[in-house]
Amino acid sequence: DREKLIMTGVLNLKGKKIRDIMTNLIDVFMLEANRIVDDELVLNVHGYGYSRIPVYEGRRDNIIGLVNIRDFALLDTESGKFTVRNIMNFYKHRYGTAITPDDSSYDVFNLFKKEQYHLGVVVEYDNTSEKDPKAKAIGIVTLEDIIEEMIQEE
Ligand code: ATP
Ligand code: ATP
Repeated sequence: DREKLIMTGVLNLKGKKIRDIMTNLIDVFMLEANRIVDDELVLNVHGYGYSRIPVYEGRRDNIIGLVNIRDFALLDTESGKFTVRNIMNFYKHRYGTAITPDDSSYDVFNLFKKEQYHLGVVVEYDNTSEKDPKAKAIGIVTLEDIIEEMIQEE
């Protein structure tokens, strides 16, 4: 019955860490912040078809924001005037940051609900330099990943 399903879902989620359900960085379709938005880029974005696309600067593990596939819909690509960064700064989509691979999926689910996030960036901290440890992206997790885990039948 329904109640049992919900309980099972919560239990499934509590036992799962983010590292078990995240999409690894190597598999994430992203865009570089300084890239000019032209027809080729828009075609590429639609080719992948993901709704949310992380934006990185320099290195892929340096994610600085997010763009949505819909952001490109009304854009004039002919002018060659816009960079990915311009779009990112215009829409300022919110997303989860500072999620770590050892976080409980259940806690992240509650965070997503509270903040209305659909995507979070999973980071690892580089502890080699003692002050100001830098967060490096190692993957992403979306609401879809969490819900999929929740409704999975054992
Ligand atoms: P929506 O269903 O809201 O249109 P979507 O289909 O783009 O979104 P999700 O449903 O959130 O994506 O996630 C589906 C799977 O794709 C998840 O495993 C998620 O981690 C992964 N995913 C989401 N965005 C990306 C991306 N930019 N690059 C690679 N994988 C992604
Ligand atoms: P949806 O498909 O549900 O509209 P989305 O993530 O695909 O959401 P947007 O609607 O552009 O794209 O929202 C981007 C982000 O902005 C969301 O993930 C959410 O965290 C945040 N957001 C959306 N609406 C609000 C709001 N009214 N107040 C605060 N944050 C919001």
